[in-house]
Amino acid sequence: MSYLSDIEIAQRTQMEPITEVAKKLGIAEDDLELYGRYKAKVTFDLWEKIKEREDGKLILVTAITPTPAGEGKTTTSVGLAQALAKLGKKATLALREPSLGPVFGIKGGAAGGGYSQVVPMEDINVHFTGDFHAVTSAHNLLAAMLDNSVQQGNPLNIDPRRIEFRRVLDMNDRSLRSIVIGLGGKANGVPREDGFDITVASEVMAILCLSQGIEDLKERLGNIIVAYTYDDKPVTAKDLEAQGAMAMLLKDAIKPNLVQTLEHVPAFIHGGPFANIAHGCNSVMATKYGLKLADYFVTEAGFAADLGAEKFLDIKCRLAGLKPSAVVIVATIRALKMHGGAKKEELGKVDMKTLEAGIPNLEKHVENILSYGLPAVVALNAFPTDTEEELKFIQEKCARLGVPVVESDIWAKGGAGGIKMAEKVIEACEKPNAFHYLYDEKQSPKEKIEKIATEIYGADGVVYTDKAEKDLKKIHELGKDELLVCMAKTQASISDDPNKKGRPTNYKLTVREVRLSAGAGFIIPITGSIMTMPGLPKRPAACGIDVDENGKVSGLF
Ligand code: ADP
Ligand code: MG
Repeated sequence: MSYLSDIEIAQRTQMEPITEVAKKLGIAEDDLELYGRYKAKVTFDLWEKIKEREDGKLILVTAITPTPAGEGKTTTSVGLAQALAKLGKKATLALREPSLGPVFGIKGGAAGGGYSQVVPMEDINVHFTGDFHAVTSAHNLLAAMLDNSVQQGNPLNIDPRRIEFRRVLDMNDRSLRSIVIGLGGKANGVPREDGFDITVASEVMAILCLSQGIEDLKERLGNIIVAYTYDDKPVTAKDLEAQGAMAMLLKDAIKPNLVQTLEHVPAFIHGGPFANIAHGCNSVMATKYGLKLADYFVTEAGFAADLGAEKFLDIKCRLAGLKPSAVVIVATIRALKMHGGAKKEELGKVDMKTLEAGIPNLEKHVENILSYGLPAVVALNAFPTDTEEELKFIQEKCARLGVPVVESDIWAKGGAGGIKMAEKVIEACEKPNAFHYLYDEKQSPKEKIEKIATEIYGADGVVYTDKAEKDLKKIHELGKDELLVCMAKTQASISDDPNKKGRPTNYKLTVREVRLSAGAGFIIPITGSIMTMPGLPKRPAACGIDVDENGKVSGLF
């Protein structure tokens, strides 16, 4: 059997005008800022009209630990919203905006797959409504003002060797990781080492996604620490008087974007912070609009539940005052087999032994979600190689957890393939819910980190390098102990070792350094080597992308 590619499916769909899609959420044309026929931003006026309403049900989609076999969180999020709509529910969803890095690198776009996608996928994956351009510009404006201040007599006494704020670009380009700037003599700046990160790794992106309005945005931007002075005092964006102009550049980017799924369900796509050095979910603004406008609101957190869900629940929900109603944990039989030791080539074979060996990974993620007091549903994202026997086996294995396990076929069948999943999710939303955060912000940074390490990652404890100890001391001196914790850890394992599959035990988590995102409002314990400027592979996906005489795009996936 041959399948259509994602872009072929997307291009065969007749989209509805976005004005019609918006009506399903009761949004009038006046409350839309149109970007062509199929994309729009929602206005602040709309927020004024809906803000007193009760929130709909908040459903988080997360997953088991990813393997090269692929899990399908975005696809499941889109499919679930479509299935809820098929059941007659007023449903919407919110996803992150894709970054150009993966589009041209290895992973491809991030607009779902098969018959569960958001469209127009060519636009969503590339440029879209310009939000990433705005973030890039706001970030680089601050970088330019910083170097200019040093050049113009350095009134803030900035130590050029201690400038921490790098530049950004939305492109995978390893040659820009470490560079020297300011060469060429007195008129051309003060020479120093610098570097580029990818735009999604910008603190400005994290801030945009956590802000609840322009004032909040400005305050957070102003708090970004960009450097230290010769006498060790922090220098902020506020000290450089940059926050007003930065917020001005972001004034439209902060408004959520509305598009549609292949089945014309309204979908917000807004913001896209990294899931390692940032919190990895779409904007608070899109989430808040979605919750007011729909009865069921679906959203995705990046990476697996140990990272994405933990940050969603402990950072985003806390900062925005959100209360989830249910959590969907996406798993695939293929990925579970890989956790049990199977090789990628062997995934098509029925093999209960490796499947059984891989199930503890799923169990740990389920236990973690339940520990937050939230109801969970396990969604097995169906692949053609799955068998009834394997599905039954997982259901039996998971029975003791008291969590429903349903097969979902949303990739091949769209919303119709997710009805069973949607019914279980609706049931879960009706269950009593004792949601609570994992840690208290008043606890010390070490207490918070240890809580995450031992309870979520299953570690026996935490080891800090000398550098990490020094960083924590500095954070304490700056009075930032009460910030939330945003862990940067490999997504390939629940532990800090990417090679440990399944459910790692008997290990200690090593924190190598602790960074500070004072504007976003968190500290970032780094537990491995975290790449903030990816490179391109030997043959980038870009080599297969093209556009014809009529503007029709091919090769995006
Ligand atoms: P995630 O959000 O977890 O990173 P995505 O939903 O983006 O994953 O899916 C990753 C890739 O896997 C996409 O290209 C998608 O089309 C594909 N995919 C997802 N589910 C299935 C499935 N059930 N069968 C085949 N391919 C799938
Ligand atoms: Mg995704």
